[in-house]
Amino acid sequence: MANFDYDKLRGKRLNFVPTKVQIGEWSGDLNEVIICGEVGPVSLATLAEVARHYLRLTNQSLRPPLASLVCAATGDLRALEFFFPISTVLDEEERPAFFRFLASIIQHPNFRLRVIGSETTDVTTQIYTDIPGIVAGHLAEIFFYRPDLLDRFLSSPRNFWLYTNQQAFEAGGGLAGGDYNPEREAIELVISRLYEGYGGLTPGVAPFLHELGHMLDHYDCATLRLAQSKGFLPGMNPEDGSLFSPHARSLFIKGKQIEQARYIAYQTAQAKEGDAWPIGHPYVFQNDTEFIAGYFEMFFRNPNYFADQNPTLYASFIELFGQDPRRYWPSDFPFYRDENRKVYVERHKIGVQNITVPEK
Ligand SMILES: [Zn+2]
Repeated sequence: MANFDYDKLRGKRLNFVPTKVQIGEWSGDLNEVIICGEVGPVSLATLAEVARHYLRLTNQSLRPPLASLVCAATGDLRALEFFFPISTVLDEEERPAFFRFLASIIQHPNFRLRVIGSETTDVTTQIYTDIPGIVAGHLAEIFFYRPDLLDRFLSSPRNFWLYTNQQAFEAGGGLAGGDYNPEREAIELVISRLYEGYGGLTPGVAPFLHELGHMLDHYDCATLRLAQSKGFLPGMNPEDGSLFSPHARSLFIKGKQIEQARYIAYQTAQAKEGDAWPIGHPYVFQNDTEFIAGYFEMFFRNPNYFADQNPTLYASFIELFGQDPRRYWPSDFPFYRDENRKVYVERHKIGVQNITVPEK
């Protein structure tokens, strides 16, 4: 048997061939036990059973990577480290605290995760800990240094509706590839999309992060409701009381203005050779909520490029979240950076922007 290298293989899917399980280049017999990093020994048969359960439940749509199955099979949240780069740079005290924080979010009465199957049946009881773990892990990563902000955010029910597959998603009223639905006050996503973007060395495409950006934009710290888009994140609004950070707000306004000015200069062909162009794709300049969702996502996925291009706007996110993702992102997720940049480098024609920048 070839050596089983968990760290290399934990992002791979399981494939079933007669009497064997294939994980990436490696394959083993069902009666083998593999050593899954700090989680320890796990039987391949158990992992295969979990993987098959998810295939049945989702009509073959969901194939979580090994790391997720390890969490599902053992209940050990540390297996989810793979999905949350922050957990790899934490020190001896912070690391266990991170996983305790994650566990407390899953248990929180206002963390309302539902899984919806075909014909809108509720199948929430049929999933393992890995799925709520991944959703809650995003919240843990974002708010690890701002538990007070998360505390307020979870002081009334927050809905995360996951669908077993695309048909269930459409039957349940989901839109596009996933959405934040203001009427339902819910993020709606096909479960398999939670695992998008985990193929490379660092996580990439993050539909959940993007929709969470919309949800946070709609959140009102004062009324605790998800009322309407504000164009700001919680903690950036004067009515947020003790959570309000005037510094984060003023940096955000200045930084957003810079992006807007760059966009207009480019769009109206006023930009001179060597002038910086906007970081975000023209898509995020269509309105304030796309702007915040897009830049929120980029803060956690291409922080290096973001910080180089617009240190002021970047600083507003550092100020708000009490962390700098460059610490655990040695290099950016190239797809976002390059796809977004390509529009401007290749001189594509872009539409008129429609974002607003308040005076103060
Ligand atoms: Zn959006």
